[in-house]
Amino acid sequence: MDYQTLLDNVAAEVAPLIGTGNVADYIPALAGVDPMSFGMAIADLDGGVHGVGQWRQAFSVQSISKVFSLAMTLSRDGQTLWKSVGREPSGNPFNSLVQLEAENGVPRNPFINAGAIVVTDHLVELAGDASGALLDFLRSETEEDTIGFDADVAASEAAHGDRNASLAHFMRSYGNLRNPVPTVLEHYFRQCSLSMSCEEVALAATFLARHGVLRDGRRLLTRSEAKQINAVMLTCGTYDAAGDFAYRVGLPAKSGVGGGILAVIPQRCTICVWSPGLDVQGNSVAGAAALDVFTTMTGWSIF
Ligand code: GLN
Repeated sequence: MDYQTLLDNVAAEVAPLIGTGNVADYIPALAGVDPMSFGMAIADLDGGVHGVGQWRQAFSVQSISKVFSLAMTLSRDGQTLWKSVGREPSGNPFNSLVQLEAENGVPRNPFINAGAIVVTDHLVELAGDASGALLDFLRSETEEDTIGFDADVAASEAAHGDRNASLAHFMRSYGNLRNPVPTVLEHYFRQCSLSMSCEEVALAATFLARHGVLRDGRRLLTRSEAKQINAVMLTCGTYDAAGDFAYRVGLPAKSGVGGGILAVIPQRCTICVWSPGLDVQGNSVAGAAALDVFTTMTGWSIF
């Protein structure tokens, strides 16, 4: 497969969409990103990485980090987490409060904010320095020591984090958060502030295309756990647009409000695309379109 030609063709096809949608501004530090940015990278399972556009430029990964914190939590304790968080699509915005009361403080899935906050709480319990453990993992899997947190983004999110704080306090009132709210939120905001390129995100996630096996052949997750994460990405990874995204793209994927989307093609490759203009559900407009075009051109959806 000539990945380079493929990526060039995809980029040309979606070029008119770059700059459409809205850059996230509810986290003020994200508002200044150039809306015309676009990058896309593919990491194959032989170690090759291919890219187009700004595929080596770091961006704010935001909710894509939720895939990695879930993987790290399951790798340390594959069972306990699922008592605290469900596995159903929410059908509501990623930061919604409405379901939590009706469902006794147990979030629908690990990829909406409430669910990811619960995952972080478990990772604090299992690893101590949850965000530090996550950073160590990403640096070692990509062999890239320059990956880091963006302190401005983390501080900006903390300063405007009333909604996430509400979710966390609410869950703690139901006994579904073990650590103090400020501790959990500190790690959650820091993990969301991770700054990585498309190349690095794609490389770091190849274990999901390898049924749980890391780049050096060590196993991070059981085959079942890797399947579980991919399944939850397919059904919940793009929030209340997950049904439409599965219809269009047909791949497990996780988006973030920084404009990135990670997608997995089991046994073949991982893809990360980035363009900051978002639709109303918080998914990158050009990014989702690029993945749609990609699976249409290649026939590599999982279906
Ligand atoms: N850090 C963001 C938040 O908590 C992540 C949301 C997202 O990327 N969808 O609001």
